[in-house]
Amino acid sequence: MGASQQCVILGRGPTGLAAALVLARAGYQPLVIGPPPRAAPSGALQLASNGFEALRQLAPQLAEQLLAQSTRLTEIEIKTLSDGTRLGHIEHGPHLYAGVSRTALSKLLVAACQNTGQVDFIDTSITHITEQAGGARLLTEQGEILLADQVLATDGPHGVGRQFVAPQQTPRATTQLALRASLPKAAVPAGFASPATRLWLGTACHLVSYPYGPDGTVNLVLALTPRAGDSADQAARSQLSSSSVLGWLAEAVQVWQPTPLWQASVLDCWRRGPVVLAGEAAHLMPPHLAQGFGQSLMDIAALAEALADEDLPRALSRMAAARAAAAARIARRAETAGEVMRLGQPAASWRDKLLGLTGGAVLDSFLADVWQLPELPEARS
Ligand SMILES: Cc1cc2nc3c(=O)[nH]c(=O)nc-3n(C[C@H](O)[C@H](O)[C@H](O)COP(=O)(O)OP(=O)(O)OC[C@H]3O[C@@H](n4cnc5c(N)ncnc54)[C@H](O)[C@@H]3O)c2cc1C
Repeated sequence: MGASQQCVILGRGPTGLAAALVLARAGYQPLVIGPPPRAAPSGALQLASNGFEALRQLAPQLAEQLLAQSTRLTEIEIKTLSDGTRLGHIEHGPHLYAGVSRTALSKLLVAACQNTGQVDFIDTSITHITEQAGGARLLTEQGEILLADQVLATDGPHGVGRQFVAPQQTPRATTQLALRASLPKAAVPAGFASPATRLWLGTACHLVSYPYGPDGTVNLVLALTPRAGDSADQAARSQLSSSSVLGWLAEAVQVWQPTPLWQASVLDCWRRGPVVLAGEAAHLMPPHLAQGFGQSLMDIAALAEALADEDLPRALSRMAAARAAAAARIARRAETAGEVMRLGQPAASWRDKLLGLTGGAVLDSFLADVWQLPELPEARS
């Protein structure tokens, strides 16, 4: 058992890495603990204007590098999954919205942490946390004990951080799966590769597609509830093969990667003793508004702001207090969006008619509120 670490970050996902960067720049020496990824994180995510603005405030150079390796998306196009009827569109105008490779994001964050010379990493998992004498005692999977004055747990919704802070609030699964796949630009029709997000609304299911990365690889996420006994691939094929415009996808994608979808769950209180949560550990939300990581960046931006005039324990508390209600509001909106996207018949037809009549204006005003930019201090170089 060594000396007590001032600040341990649990989890080396994008939230943990962004937090490590901010703490190092504020003069701390964070120790990041987490298993090294077995493979480079696959696929992509959409980073909307609020998340991008938070990243720019935290690390302007990194935000520019990420943008250079991403596809800037100009609009969201909404169509029916059955026959591709265009229901409406939302233009992003001057606001940044991009398809971002998860690998590029992770590599840039790791490199930025390493460049500070202040961030240490330990490749292991923590199996147990206890509170002890004003700090935390962390048990590694090798049976070693680490002491920490403060722990920022960014180890996701199923990690030990959340179990320690809110043991009663275990995330609950839904029956829905997100089936993920990527296709090279050359394997998709031209319309698919243009720089837009496409939302294809079906009956009790929807598909989202958008290009990402400089080469315009297309990311696909199909959300559905498989019939009992169906594999992910069977469920995707049976859903897509009935579409007159997306039937080709049933053949083009050989393997869909299933990810369970969870009910939204944002904790009211993100701190217990020396452990504070951030990122998906604190606010689990369905991916239907593409806000999960953007909200995590807003957590870390709030931490950076608080660190400018508070010590670490107070800054962590201030971040948690500032972000809990805001993240809960977005999570509720993501749940609502999910409910609308998985409507069955006849409600799905009414939804499509309404969207068609308003040309997406209903969705536009719903999203404008979600994409409100964070109020942050001046960017640091
Ligand atoms: C289908 C889908 C699509 C999505 N699309 C978008 C999108 O378009 N835009 C967007 O902004 N967000 C999106 N998201 C959400 C986004 O992926 C998450 O918000 C983001 O990955 C969360 O990052 P995180 O660092 O908080 O958690 P994670 O990425 O879950 O990282 C947690 C880390 O903690 C580590 N860990 C776990 N347990 C332990 C332990 N016991 N000890 C030590 N380390 C541990 C893990 O190994 C991992 O590295 C999507 C999510 C899904 C499922």
